[in-house]
Amino acid sequence: MGRMISWNDLGSECTFAVCAETETGLFEKVLEHGRTVHGMKEFSLDFYNKVRASIRDGYCDLEDELCQYGECC
Ligand SMILES: [Zn+2]
Repeated sequence: MGRMISWNDLGSECTFAVCAETETGLFEKVLEHGRTVHGMKEFSLDFYNKVRASIRDGYCDLEDELCQYGECC
């Protein structure tokens, strides 16, 4: 069991799903996606809170890898 989040839960059209073993790892992946794919330069406290509130339990699978190349955005 890992931790997961979908960008969709953050009020974005993006359906990129992120999954990681830990919450810290999850945050890293979320921020990286925001930077590389959405061109976000900084992340507000509000954004962090939204991410934290949307994290749920989940299983890591291939979907995560496929979406890294922007397929989901
Ligand atoms: Zn995205």
